[in-house]
Amino acid sequence: MLIALPALNDNYIWVYGRENLPVIVIDPSESKQVIRYLNEQNLSLEAILLTHLHDDHVGGVAALKAHYPDVPVFGSTETANKGAEYIVNSGVFSTKHYNVQVLPSGGHTANHVSFLIDDHLFCGDTIFSGGCGRVFTGDYALMFESLQRLKALPDTTIICPAHEYTLSNLCFAEHIMTEKSAVQNHKVLVEQLRAEQKPSLPTSLGLEKQINPFLQVNDLQTFIQLRKAKDQF
Ligand SMILES: [Zn+2]
Repeated sequence: MLIALPALNDNYIWVYGRENLPVIVIDPSESKQVIRYLNEQNLSLEAILLTHLHDDHVGGVAALKAHYPDVPVFGSTETANKGAEYIVNSGVFSTKHYNVQVLPSGGHTANHVSFLIDDHLFCGDTIFSGGCGRVFTGDYALMFESLQRLKALPDTTIICPAHEYTLSNLCFAEHIMTEKSAVQNHKVLVEQLRAEQKPSLPTSLGLEKQINPFLQVNDLQTFIQLRKAKDQF
């Protein structure tokens, strides 16, 4: 099961689990809806994962730990004083039932990481549908490298970003891309989903390669120009 719990203005808290197994929660910006959902569905929580240190990704950790004191929290070095008890910056680690691959994804923050679990990529604020995270570090080369690393995963990878930014990203993509038909087709679907107050996510890497201009640039200079253009769009 894969569920996006809406949180704050436009965040999603992802809940992932294989059938009949405890679940993993990624980037809990809040706690109430997580506890409510796990109770309603009679699910137990196996682990909490943090992609980066921003409050809208870690804000619910303390309250979740108070409610589930034995559940381990994993995150990169930058989340150590945001509640991460086990520091994971790269490689593979295991929770009780899951193997989690950690992909370094710096750029939005210096030490951002993404988590790959059973073909599901939880990429925080690195890839969004139709876009990518802001480069708050100013290190565009690092962000470009991170996108290239994630882009090398199989096209079937299910992409689970932490924000509902799809429609505004697709408006920018439509504005900037010369071949617009894939973007325009997808935009119709996303408009429908959003009108029904459904998430536009998850997406897939294969789809993103068609609609996401940030996954189509192949050199750093073009990436920098594109990212700066989006900042001002
Ligand atoms: Zn962020």
